Amino acid sequence: MSIETIFDTMEYGTAPEDRSIALQWIADRGGLLGPYVNGAFCPGRDDLAICNPATGEKLAGLSLCTEDEVKEAVRSARAAQPDWQEAGGPARARVLYALARLMQKHARLLAVMESLDNGKPIRESRDIDIPLAIRHFYHHAGHAQLMPSALSDRVALGVCGQIIPWNFPLLMLAWKIAPALAMGNTVVLKPAEYTPMTAMIFADLCSQAGVPPGVVNIVTGDGSTGAALVDANVDKIAFTGSTSVGRQIQDATAGSGKSLTLELGGKSPYIVFDDADIDSAIEGLVDAIWFNQGQVCCAGSRLLIHEAIADDFHNRLKTRMDKLRIGDPLDKSIDVGAIVDPIQLRQIRELVEGSTAGQTYHAQTPVPEGCFYPPTLITGLHPADRLMQEEIFGPVLVSTTFRTPAEAVEIANNTKYGLAATLWTENINLALEIAPKLVAGVVWVNATNLFDAAAGFGGTRESGFGREGGWEGLQAYSKPSKPLAEPTQITAFTGQGAAAEDIDRTAKLFIGRKQARPDGGYSQAIFSPKGKLLGHAPIANRKDIRNAVQAQLACGWGKITGHLRAQILYYIAENLAAQANRFAERLDAMTGLSAGAEEVQAAVDILFTYAAWADKFEGQAKSVPMRAVALAMREPVGAIAALCSDQNPLLGLVTPMAAALSTGNSITLCASAPFPLAATDFYHILEASDVPAGAVNILTGPQADLAPHLGAHMGLETVWCLSGAPLTEAVQARASSNIKRVWQGAAQDDHASWLEAGTEIKTIWIPYGE
Ligand code: NDP
Repeated sequence: MSIETIFDTMEYGTAPEDRSIALQWIADRGGLLGPYVNGAFCPGRDDLAICNPATGEKLAGLSLCTEDEVKEAVRSARAAQPDWQEAGGPARARVLYALARLMQKHARLLAVMESLDNGKPIRESRDIDIPLAIRHFYHHAGHAQLMPSALSDRVALGVCGQIIPWNFPLLMLAWKIAPALAMGNTVVLKPAEYTPMTAMIFADLCSQAGVPPGVVNIVTGDGSTGAALVDANVDKIAFTGSTSVGRQIQDATAGSGKSLTLELGGKSPYIVFDDADIDSAIEGLVDAIWFNQGQVCCAGSRLLIHEAIADDFHNRLKTRMDKLRIGDPLDKSIDVGAIVDPIQLRQIRELVEGSTAGQTYHAQTPVPEGCFYPPTLITGLHPADRLMQEEIFGPVLVSTTFRTPAEAVEIANNTKYGLAATLWTENINLALEIAPKLVAGVVWVNATNLFDAAAGFGGTRESGFGREGGWEGLQAYSKPSKPLAEPTQITAFTGQGAAAEDIDRTAKLFIGRKQARPDGGYSQAIFSPKGKLLGHAPIANRKDIRNAVQAQLACGWGKITGHLRAQILYYIAENLAAQANRFAERLDAMTGLSAGAEEVQAAVDILFTYAAWADKFEGQAKSVPMRAVALAMREPVGAIAALCSDQNPLLGLVTPMAAALSTGNSITLCASAPFPLAATDFYHILEASDVPAGAVNILTGPQADLAPHLGAHMGLETVWCLSGAPLTEAVQARASSNIKRVWQGAAQDDHASWLEAGTEIKTIWIPYGE
């Protein structure tokens, strides 16, 4: 072929990468791999066959770790943890830095092994997976170094169990291990059954880098090994994978005291407005949905295209799809590699072929025999069609149209997920208006799939909770150094039920800014320690919770400015201060103590404090190594419910309320059951303020009856369990219904933790330059 012809046709040949380096590494280990525990490999067994999905050939045999082997790995991590923490941040930084250097040195081996094991194109493993994994270790070496000065009030959690999927094997390992080690934790990591190979090389590098024995442990196996790790004696589980397994893990850890972060599935919208640069948007889409064969949790798998340009866009997209090359993942001129396993291929086929909606277009490009699937576009779908809602986790793009920006936002958010979103427009005003409205942990403007160790990644809704990367990612691997005292539940005082006066003094619930009778109509008598009747408090039930959450969801508090939130909180504080004596007397009467005045003063102070924070708990612009601004915006977590502590009936009510309102959340407060009258008095203060209807609701009654319903409520994003372990367990047992965050509070003066609990980072990426 002449050079002239090549310029005319733009055809190019194959460019295969040499695989021998990876095969030799396996052969050197006798073709069998086992767990890495206490700084050494255990003898491997041929329990599971690890195969190259592109050819079906067996690469190695792998041990399926038993429960005992998992426990042994956890024991080793437990034994190593105190010394690793004691070693200090700078010493840990040296080790993380050494690991990064070694990974860089062995980058080719890692890239070839990743493509052999997973089927992803070598261009991607070489240029994206491995460099990003290395960057993660460099970045977190810095966090370890800075921990003593920048995070002096935080300590390690202890032993972290980490479970990762098969789509980005080494990258997910890096996202999990680097921050955990930096903060002084030790880890037991379980790679996916399909793709353990780069984790095995990493283990080898740990020994070379001087990682102390027991600090990093890797257990191999399948879902049963993962389940054994969840049950083991670990302090935290960090999981990335499907929402269904995430839900099982949330159930399994309920009541265990283990901290939990979940990075789950998605069905991320890719929105193209009619003024977008179409060619760029199409190239972006190639990355959004055909990168890694679409097996990406944040894949832009749902195209929302402005009606006016839809036909032209789809036609140009099909032309581009036809040019994608599918084949040998180790060929450097391949765009789309192999699907990870025949089981995954079958799932993709079943989902696509099981739907008759829309028109399906498969790319007109040769597809090799075996575990390959052509790039596919399904147009003309309704937003509610199954394929528009369900994660396909393959190279399949589904598409629908919209007419207005408001409709685009509505369709984009019409999903149970909230991981990522992409939008394309040449109008920066439109982009910056739409980005905050999208329910997603990450938003890319005129770009897609941008990642960096300095920028947080993670979801909301059923895409999970917690962030990986950046300062925010460190929260998930550390805790406040000041331990939180376990709240004790107090038994209500009893007395004679005779009314002191003839007038009925039964208080009401406070829902949607109105005093509301409890749905059940019941109330309970509240007595002083000496048995004197102080009044009656209503008993709320499931339907009152429903009404309160409905009011929360309609209140619009999250949309008002921090400045205005501050003014309203200051005003509440002033009103409370003006009635300090009345509240102090009430508190003293209920508790039989004489600390009421002090408690009211503390409540006023905390209101002033969170009023002050309302316009100061800011996001950041992240320092990412590319021509892009990555904005870490602090967004409210959404509708919160709090089970308030019995310890300080007023302060325990006002603190979660003030922290939630300060950060833009609405809140339903379930008041202390033995001392509810401070709460029912407090709604008079709220009535006199400018708090909008539904932003704060107050329920009273036995918290044990309310807790399971809070856990199960699909409209609540978060429950703050501030009244002790038994009720936390009751909430956690139902929290997986909508992958709810459950938080157990922080010390009264640890304002940063309260503010963190009220917010989640949304990372908005905006590339710049021509
Ligand atoms: P899973 O969620 O099943 O697997 C993720 C990890 O969890 C793997 O290491 C897996 O082990 C392990 N695991 C499986 N069951 C349990 C359990 N009961 N307890 C603890 N750990 C467990 O994802 P799959 O790999 O099976 O993929 C299934 C679907 O999940 C995909 O089709 C896709 O839709 C979605 N997915 C989403 C990902 C994301 O990042 N959001 C990533 C991967 C998949 P093992 O693999 O060894 O069985």
